Amino acid sequence: MIRINQLKLSIQHTEQELREAVYKKLKVTPEIIRSITIRKQSIDARKKTEIKYIYAIDVSVKDEDKIVKRVKDANVTLVTESEYSFTIQGNDSLKERPIVVGSGPAGLFCTYFLAKNGYRPILIERGQAVEERIKTVDQFWLDNCLDTESNVQFGEGGAGTFSDGKLNTMVKDTTGRIRQVLKVLVEHGAPEEILYKNKPHIGTDVLSMVVKNIREDVKACGGTIYFDTKLTDVLIEDGVVTGIEITKRNRSKFDNGVTSSDSSIEKIPCSALILALGHSARDTFEMLYRRGLTMEQKAFAVGVRMEHKQELISKNQYGAEYVHLSAADYKVTHQCNNGRAVYSFCMCPGGYVVNASSEEGRLVVNGMSYHDRAGENANSAIIVTVGPEDFKKIPGAVDTPLAGMEFQRYYEGLAYQTGRGNVPVQRYGDLLRSRESVKIGHIKPNIRGNYSLANLRDCLPDYMVESIIEGVQAFDKNITGFADEDAILSGVEMRTSSPLRILRDEALESNRKGIYPCGEGAGYAGGIVSAAVDGMKVYEALAVKYRP
Ligand code: FAD
Repeated sequence: MIRINQLKLSIQHTEQELREAVYKKLKVTPEIIRSITIRKQSIDARKKTEIKYIYAIDVSVKDEDKIVKRVKDANVTLVTESEYSFTIQGNDSLKERPIVVGSGPAGLFCTYFLAKNGYRPILIERGQAVEERIKTVDQFWLDNCLDTESNVQFGEGGAGTFSDGKLNTMVKDTTGRIRQVLKVLVEHGAPEEILYKNKPHIGTDVLSMVVKNIREDVKACGGTIYFDTKLTDVLIEDGVVTGIEITKRNRSKFDNGVTSSDSSIEKIPCSALILALGHSARDTFEMLYRRGLTMEQKAFAVGVRMEHKQELISKNQYGAEYVHLSAADYKVTHQCNNGRAVYSFCMCPGGYVVNASSEEGRLVVNGMSYHDRAGENANSAIIVTVGPEDFKKIPGAVDTPLAGMEFQRYYEGLAYQTGRGNVPVQRYGDLLRSRESVKIGHIKPNIRGNYSLANLRDCLPDYMVESIIEGVQAFDKNITGFADEDAILSGVEMRTSSPLRILRDEALESNRKGIYPCGEGAGYAGGIVSAAVDGMKVYEALAVKYRP
């Protein structure tokens, strides 16, 4: 295969123009080309008047080595594609079917690979299947009636289901696992472009459909999935897992539309338990801590969601050419005088702020978008890192591995009170002047969920407000208009990553043998793709030990 790097084309080029650029670069005629595949597409917007797409293109053609020698161009090289491959090495067989807890990207990908390779996994998920979950979440955004088991954090597809579906990751991967994750998503309905776009994204609408298709594939391969089923205890004997307790919720819907539910408890024997719980499973973390799993505190970042008009962001990033390109993103960072770093995170072009709460009396926000990213506003978390020293500052703080989680709970409780049960929202100019907002300016909040005008200083520590203000003023130097006084802030953004880590050894097992902490909640991933990759790693760890 020949790879052509740095092939630059205008942002309005046609497919034919791309093909012709390839023939010209390789100095060949079209007949001898077997295939042309886009490997990477990124945007070079350094010169706003001359924005280009930059491609890496793979070309399969006769006499590849001769062509490369003849062309003599550092951007034209021979490459061999290294595909993901893994061979099962285990000799022991499992006494029971492996049990995966949590159907977010980590749990789902672990289950998928176990199912595809004959392990017949059981997946349990506390929330609802995605079709039902969407209805429950939509209803919550209308009436504030929170279902603590099925919401933006919990339910099929995990925390990423109501997301922007960004699929880029900072993780460096030489094993091909990242590409394999993207391929599985494409095989289950995601657009092919995620395989080559520099910053791939699929949006909440496409992601929900893909998750459903993976579920059906898992079932077709002998996997079993239980929704509305929560892991409520782990049974340990001599430091080894022997079983789990699950609590099943039986929902009934009456003709008048009222839903009621009762629950039943079961115990299931288990010798391989994968915990892909996500960062919000606070009750489960408490249970695991009581059962003696070794955990430690972990730093994470918290702050607010900030909304601007998407047009402002796109014009800043692309100039007048923005109309020919999809909604632009940004990434900004600033080192504050108080020593803290403030930065943008999980930016959602053309997206919506969402009420992403999962506990009664507590409120937290996040961001999501649809595949078309056509919303009027851009939003992003503007966050500041916090760590063990900050966890100690909240009233009644106790120095345990769960201290970061209690820190989140404290500020989420204040956010709930500040917004009187709704998302507390403030104009940036009012945050600057320390006053509650009484009206909205030219930027209208694009929020899924009810909101109330408020003063976010009532639910954030002073050091955070200071850092956010210093950061926003600095970001305005890169993106003119970022510090617009009408920009909308919503609070609080607390679930950016796990507040703790469940320790695991080289075989990826916790100190309670047979238990495999996995994904973001356990502290080994951040984001959809890295969580899915960690799910694959845990599948591999199991397959090193056991055959199907
Ligand atoms: P999760 O996805 O959190 O899944 C954990 C699952 O475990 C949940 O479904 C939960 O219900 C279940 N569970 C928990 N406890 C139990 C129990 N006791 N019994 C049974 N089931 C249980 N990341 C990106 O890369 N790109 C984005 O654009 C993006 N946008 C986001 C937008 C929002 C609104 C949110 C909330 C997150 C977003 N993220 C995004 C982060 C991303 O969703 C997470 O990094 C990712 O989902 C973590 O995967 P996970 O499988 O480790 O955990």
